[in-house]
Amino acid sequence: MANAPKLLVVTDLDGTLLDHHTYAFDAARPALARLQRHGIPVVLNTSKTAAELAPLRAELENPHPFVVENGAAVLWPEGHFPLHQSGPVGAMMGHRMQPFGATRQEILEVLAQVRTETGLALQGFADWDVATLVAHTGLDKTSAAQALARCFSEPLLWRGSDTELALLERAVRRHGLRLLKGGRFVHVIGQSDKGQALDWLRQAYASLWGENPTVIALGDGDNDVAMLERADHPVVVRSPVNPPPPLSAASRPRATLTEACGPEGWNQAVHRLLDHYQLA
Ligand SMILES: [Mg+2]
Repeated sequence: MANAPKLLVVTDLDGTLLDHHTYAFDAARPALARLQRHGIPVVLNTSKTAAELAPLRAELENPHPFVVENGAAVLWPEGHFPLHQSGPVGAMMGHRMQPFGATRQEILEVLAQVRTETGLALQGFADWDVATLVAHTGLDKTSAAQALARCFSEPLLWRGSDTELALLERAVRRHGLRLLKGGRFVHVIGQSDKGQALDWLRQAYASLWGENPTVIALGDGDNDVAMLERADHPVVVRSPVNPPPPLSAASRPRATLTEACGPEGWNQAVHRLLDHYQLA
């Protein structure tokens, strides 16, 4: 097809490309192979740290740019994009890096003040060594060390009341940060999200390709909404544990909800879109 658009896939990992329970992605292999055949990049956009992503990217044989810590930074291989961005571009784990949010150091300084201001007994990753994190999460030692290697966010163990959570939320907001609730931990992060990272990627690929990419985004959770709403083809991947996250009325007509959960749903949705563009 002469005029097929340049497609770009941006995807969440846990519960989306990776099975919610087993973290396997075998069910998505056929669609991944088809994307690879057509040279369509798959950009991982996750809450994970760069250190946590490294073994996964190797397993997925994914050499493409990636987004870490809930949209806090995009990393890409040196020379992959023509430099077109203003603002600071750093380096991290052998990659070029565009940060969007606050650094972890800035976040930890704010949390020290918030402790004083609110009297809340806050306990987070920065207070723990690997063994303590293992005890709190059940992660193995290697994964715990990778999870501790954070650059843009601080997870706090949360045992407080809703009133205390509201107090914490107001306090961090006064300092220009925000909270993301996720299970037993609340994450303190800067003003970045997965959608902002998607916008940056769209521009970066537009200058790389000389034409605007058509973006397929896939996610299963509330923290994926900003990313899904900015995509040309938002795909909500069904979750075995959560209801589908609500999208805005404006983006709903473009969106699809998969029938199957996790990687199986991912596989079906990508096949359907490639069929739509007649990319065999
Ligand atoms: Mg997810």
